[in-house]
Amino acid sequence: MEKYDLMSDKAEGFINAGEIALTLSTALKYGNDAAVVRQILAKAREKKGLSHAEAAVLLLNEDEEVWHEIATLAEEVKNAYYGNRVVLFAPLYLSNYCVNGCTYCPYHAQNKHIFRKKMTQEEIKAEVIALQDMGHKRLALEAGEHPVYNPLEYILESIDTIYGIKHKSGAIRRVNVNIAATTVEDYRRLHAAKIGTYILFQETYNKEDYEKLHPRGPKSDYKWHTEAMDRAMQAGIEDVGLGVLFGLHNYASEFVGLLMHAEHLEAVYGAGPHTVSVPRLCPADDIDTADFANALPDKVFLKIIALLRLAIPYTGMIISTREGQRIREQALKLGISQISGGSRTSVGGYAAESEPEKDSAQFEISDRRSLDEVVRWLMELGCVPSFCTSCYGNGRVGEDFMSLCKKQLIHRYCTPNALLTLKEYLDNYATPETAAVGESLLAREMALLPEVTRRFLQKRISLLKENKVVFF
Ligand code: SF4
Ligand code: SF4
Repeated sequence: MEKYDLMSDKAEGFINAGEIALTLSTALKYGNDAAVVRQILAKAREKKGLSHAEAAVLLLNEDEEVWHEIATLAEEVKNAYYGNRVVLFAPLYLSNYCVNGCTYCPYHAQNKHIFRKKMTQEEIKAEVIALQDMGHKRLALEAGEHPVYNPLEYILESIDTIYGIKHKSGAIRRVNVNIAATTVEDYRRLHAAKIGTYILFQETYNKEDYEKLHPRGPKSDYKWHTEAMDRAMQAGIEDVGLGVLFGLHNYASEFVGLLMHAEHLEAVYGAGPHTVSVPRLCPADDIDTADFANALPDKVFLKIIALLRLAIPYTGMIISTREGQRIREQALKLGISQISGGSRTSVGGYAAESEPEKDSAQFEISDRRSLDEVVRWLMELGCVPSFCTSCYGNGRVGEDFMSLCKKQLIHRYCTPNALLTLKEYLDNYATPETAAVGESLLAREMALLPEVTRRFLQKRISLLKENKVVFF
C-alpha cells in the first residue's frame, strides 16, 4: 500500500486512503475540543489557509456558535481576497455522446433513450451568438468523452470557432474547458489553443466507490483520472479547476480528499487549484438521487463551502445552477466567487428555443432565472457582477496569479475590472430596470475607489463607447 506523500506522483500517494482515515479519526477526537477548535479558528483568522487536518476538525465540530464564527470568518476572508465582485459565466455543452458508464450522469453510454446531439461548428456559432447577446464573456465548455464523436480535434476546432466570433459588441474572452482526462500531449494542444482553466471533477476521491460508480470506459481508471491535473500542469496549463460531486461518497472524506489534492498541486507546481467547484448530486434523466445514500443536507453543504474558503482562501469557488436561488444566496456570503447565470445544460439549448432541452440535459437546473435577473439580484445583494477576464489576457495565471492573490492584492484588479465590465454589460445588454439598479451601484462603488483608480476607470469607461475594453 502506498504511503502518504504530498509530493508523490502517484494518485494513491497524494490522495492517500490511510491519511484520509487518520485525518477523520483525529478530527472526530478533537472536533469538539474547545481549546483545539479555538486554536484552529485563530489560525483561520490570519486568512492564510488551513491544512486538511485542521479544516477537518472544524468540519466535525457540532457547536452552533462555532458554526456562526466560521460563517462570519468565511465572509471576511472572501472580501479580503476578492472584494464584493462575483464573476459570471455560462456552460456550453458541445456534445453529449459519451463512452463512459458514470452511474450518476444521464450521458452514460447505456442510456439509450436520452436525446444525443453533437453540435456542428455552425450550431456552435449560433449558440455563442445567443450567449453573447445575453452579455456573457466567459464560457465553460462541456463534452462527453467519445473518441469518434468528440475527439480532441473537434474540441480544438470548437475553441477556435468560439474565440473567432465577434458579434455586435460581444466576444467570448475566456473559454474554460471541462473534458475528460487526457495525455500530456493533448493537454499541450489545449494549452496552445489558449484555454482558460482546465476543469476536471474528481467525482469521488474514494477509490473503491470510484470504481463502482465508473464501471466501464476510460474514466473507470482511478489512477488515470486522479493524476490528470498533474499531467495538465506538466503540459503548461497553469490554471486548473478541481471539484467533487458531493453526494457520491461520505462528505467528510471527500472534503479531506479535495484539500489534499489542492495541497499536492500547490506543493509540486507552486500553484494550487485556480478554482474549486461544489456540485451536488441532483436529479436528471435516468438518475434518481434516491439511489445514492450520501445525499448532502443544505447545512453541511454550506459548512463545506465556508470551510473551503477558510482552508484555500486564494482559490476561486464556483456554484452552478444545480442549486436554487436560496442556497446560491447563502453560498455567496460564505465564499463563492463565481456563478453561472442563464444556463442551459443541454446541447444546443441557448439558440434553439424549440430544442427538446430537457431530453439532452445533463442535470435539472434549479435556478432558471435569466442572466439579466441574476445580474440584478446580485446587485440587490450588494455584490458587483463581473464579466472580467483580465488576468488571463494579461498573463496573470498560475503562480503569478497565486502570488498576487495570496498577498490579498488581486482585488485591486478585480474591483475596477468588475465595474468596467458591469458598465459594458449595462450599456449593451441590460433591461432598463437592471440598468437603473446598476447605474446607482456603479456610482456608489466608484465613490469608494481611491482617487487615482477612479480617474483611470472613468477614462476606461469612456473608451467603451469605441468598443475598447482596456482592463486593469
Ligand atoms: Fe460521460 Fe462525463 Fe457524464 Fe461520465 S460524467 S457519463 S464522462 S459526460
Ligand atoms: Fe478574475 Fe483576475 Fe478579473 Fe479578478 S482581475 S475577476 S481574478 S480575471
